[in-house]
Amino acid sequence: MMTKSKNPETIALHGGDYRSDPATTSVAVPVYRTTSYQFNDTDHAANLFALKEFGNIYTRIMNPTNDVLEKRVAALEGGLASVTVGSGQAASTFAIMNVCQSGDNFISSTDLYGGTVNLFTHTLKKLGIECRYADPSDPKNFEKLIDEKTRCFYAETLPNPYLRVFPIKEVSDIGRKHNIPLIMDNTAAPVICKPLEHGAAVVVHSLTKFIGGHGTVIGGALVDGGNFDWTADPKRQPLFNEPDASYGGAKWGEVVPQLTGANVSFAVRARVCLLRDLGAPLAPDNAWGIIQGLETAPLRMKQHCSNAQKVVDFLTKHKSVERVIYPTLHKGEIAERSKKYLKGGNGALVGIEVKGGVEAGKKFIEALKMFYHVANIGDARSLAIHPATTTHSQLTEEELLAAGVTPGYVRLSIGIEHPDDIIADLDQALGASGKPSLKAVS
Ligand code: PLP
Repeated sequence: MMTKSKNPETIALHGGDYRSDPATTSVAVPVYRTTSYQFNDTDHAANLFALKEFGNIYTRIMNPTNDVLEKRVAALEGGLASVTVGSGQAASTFAIMNVCQSGDNFISSTDLYGGTVNLFTHTLKKLGIECRYADPSDPKNFEKLIDEKTRCFYAETLPNPYLRVFPIKEVSDIGRKHNIPLIMDNTAAPVICKPLEHGAAVVVHSLTKFIGGHGTVIGGALVDGGNFDWTADPKRQPLFNEPDASYGGAKWGEVVPQLTGANVSFAVRARVCLLRDLGAPLAPDNAWGIIQGLETAPLRMKQHCSNAQKVVDFLTKHKSVERVIYPTLHKGEIAERSKKYLKGGNGALVGIEVKGGVEAGKKFIEALKMFYHVANIGDARSLAIHPATTTHSQLTEEELLAAGVTPGYVRLSIGIEHPDDIIADLDQALGASGKPSLKAVS
């Protein structure tokens, strides 16, 4: 029996139309290490290519191991379909390229992962796609930038370093008035936030982070919410309404619901056009590795969030800490957003400014013994990094400040170790940051 459960703990283990392997009855999802699939006959082959029948063609476009992961990630987010790709970066790239072509623009929140800023500001610009940035502190900033060539909005649920939760419903409501879909990067908040329930049309994930969870595999996914009408305003969404010369003149917004009975045009177009042409599939071995992580992701998220709260309580009272950045520590409306959108925890990411600026911040990171000093988030282990000189180092000073990266900011990704050990490591490292009185003040 396939699960109909809406509970993430059950979906993570039983979701994805998978009970056991049809060929071997294997309970654990097998890795299908194959590039290609035997067609029954020439009609079968032709029907698969013409999308008259759905089935496996070639692993650049689909694979049975990836299929289970895709269905589980879609179910976890409450979406209808998903497509996995080789990295979170590929997922963001595909999400934009699935709706924008040269001459188009899209509007992104300023609160973004540094790699995404590079992609949006430089690489997509070279392809003729313009990113316009809106400060999410006021959702109306998105509306001000719309013109007739605007194809989508883009934002992160829980963006670091600011860690201010994005106003998902407020911005998606604005977008829907103009038939503009909101694409949410939910990498930092799986399980604790479901952007599709608040009106987002598409979710992207770096599966590398909390969903994989073990720091072993790079991967990404796009989830189609199935809740956006791509045909409502054909001029607004030409890639879904004009004939696609690369696929026999298909109009994706029309043909996919006709063929599948489901509103999954976004996912199908991403798979059969972008994976076909740009490549970047997730390798089946990596899909398998991510499935191992996903099966316990809901449990880990609880521990990540509970540990992070204990760390925040500790750091906010510590004499060597100038400021702690956490979703619930913001003021007013921004703090309210964490209550509205995050359920069951406020995330694993914690920012701190150590007293003494850049030098104290560097000493602090170098003194950490259990935390790893790495460019990653969402590992089961606790991690730390200095964004200004690493993940965000390719940004200008202006871009750094817009992203909330002050020179002394240290980003912590709190792991699932025992909280006492996490706090003990932070305490001893703060002792090395150069301040004479180092005991936490109770
Ligand atoms: N989105 C967010 C929020 C990220 O933090 C990252 C990576 O750090 C990415 C996307 C890109 O993911 P990947 O490293 O899997 O390409």
